Amino acid sequence: MTDLNSALLVIGGGPGGYVCAIRAGQLGIDTILVEADALGGTCLNVGCIPSKALIHVAEKFHDLHAAANGSAIGLSVSGVDLDFAKSAAWRDGIVGRLNRGVASLLKKSGVRVVKGRARFLDGKTVTVEGDGEPFRIHADNVVIATGSAPVELPSLPFGGPVLSSTGALALRHVPETLAVVGGGYIGLELGTAFAKLGSRVTIVEAADRVLPQYDTALVKPVVDRLKALGVKIVTSTTARLGQDPGAADERAELVLTSQDGGTERLEASRVLVTVGRRPRVDAIGIAELGLDRAGPFIAIDEHCRTSMRGVYAIGDVTGEPMLAHRAMAQGVLVAEILAGRKRHWDNRAIPAICFTDPEIVSVGLSPEQAKEAGLSVKVSTFPLAANGRAMTREREDGFVRLLSVAESGEIVGIQAVGHEVSELSAAFSLALEMGSTAEDIAATIHAHPTQGEAFQEAALAALGAGLHF
Ligand code: FAD
Ligand code: NAD
Repeated sequence: MTDLNSALLVIGGGPGGYVCAIRAGQLGIDTILVEADALGGTCLNVGCIPSKALIHVAEKFHDLHAAANGSAIGLSVSGVDLDFAKSAAWRDGIVGRLNRGVASLLKKSGVRVVKGRARFLDGKTVTVEGDGEPFRIHADNVVIATGSAPVELPSLPFGGPVLSSTGALALRHVPETLAVVGGGYIGLELGTAFAKLGSRVTIVEAADRVLPQYDTALVKPVVDRLKALGVKIVTSTTARLGQDPGAADERAELVLTSQDGGTERLEASRVLVTVGRRPRVDAIGIAELGLDRAGPFIAIDEHCRTSMRGVYAIGDVTGEPMLAHRAMAQGVLVAEILAGRKRHWDNRAIPAICFTDPEIVSVGLSPEQAKEAGLSVKVSTFPLAANGRAMTREREDGFVRLLSVAESGEIVGIQAVGHEVSELSAAFSLALEMGSTAEDIAATIHAHPTQGEAFQEAALAALGAGLHF
């Protein structure tokens, strides 16, 4: 066993851990990063990046296919074919390039990377076991950034045709029929992609509507589009495997049970289970450390400190929102605190985007949350159907919505649903982070013709001065 010492030990090389290590290295902190698998974590290897690459392929394929049947813009295409194995290789290529990029950024910052699985001996010491020789690492400070893993349902265990998101992203063929159990972020993003690639998709959701984390007005255009793509949505229903897990091979038979107790059978060539993610805390010795928990997650304060001195936690292992950009921001925060800077978590805005079709963006408070907070807000909406850029892209579905405090005009929430509105999230977050008022946005010249003008128009509407609607 080789002994190593460092000022900082980061466990987990996902967006939280690798960003924390890079920033610490830049600030002159002697840092070791331990990663059991591939650098970049869930997001880069089996999450954000490969899923968005799949969505891109699906969108292109679907658009060309639609054009093959003639289109309003005068385009017609014949002989559209998809070599799915080739597009998977293209996705793998992007992941590989980014993996190598992360490795070289860590090297440039002077971070030592140790490959293997870390386990705590005490709050300052871990052992690392992997393919090579084992290590014992002692550090003054430790950051836990071990991320999350898919939740497995006992009644629908992973294996055979029953896939987690990782299994679905590893598919080398498009399944004929796909049952998606859990209509949240992952289920809808991947379900939409496979529907566009030609799978017959059924979404089974336990709540009374899909994407229950967003309000119905935001979700309606997404549901309309899913229906237009031929996706069947079954709500207030749970699913279990209707056969012995060992017997499930090329097809799965599901038993769907609705809230009123009625049952129905559903056959599918693949089942994608996306019912949430759980923190990776089991195999690392965290239970023995006795850290305080917030439910299943590690409890942290506004400095990302856990209940043990010198032990920090960031990213998915600390709970919702489980988003890569939150993990990265926490990683920078901890590195700067350890470098002696006065920092605490004071961000007003963490944008959330659902990469469905159309996309949903939400920053700050929703109308319901504003009401719960006792705020008197003006809710102003601008439809994309009145936006020239949306019309020229043949996608008029959706809107931009702005919530501003009635008295001061201060913006407390912005949401949008529409084709490629994800790119508006930067403007929305900046507006919230800078404490902008509706007047600030209304007085900002927005380039024409862009979807961003819908943001300005929503602000103008809040002032009773809307121009184009
Ligand atoms: P992870 O990325 O989970 O990284 C943790 C790392 O720790 C892993 O590499 C793991 O191997 C390592 N590790 C665990 N235990 C040990 C140990 N004992 N020793 C050593 N190493 C260990 N978020 C977005 O913001 N946008 C998106 O578009 C988006 N799309 C997604 C799509 C899918 C299909 C999925 C599954 C997730 C998506 N997410 C998205 C969520 C995003 O991936 C996570 O929020 C993000 O990866 C969390 O980063 P993290 O650093 O906390 O953990
Ligand atoms: P989720 O929480 O978004 O959705 C899970 C869904 O499953 C919910 O709608 C829930 O009601 C439903 N559900 C729970 N138990 C069920 C059951 N037994 N039967 C049927 N439905 C059931 O979780 P997810 O889609 O697995 O995603 C996990 C996390 O990953 C998200 O919280 C998100 O933070 C992150 N993520 C983000 C993005 C993004 O930023 N674009 C994309 C993918 C994932």
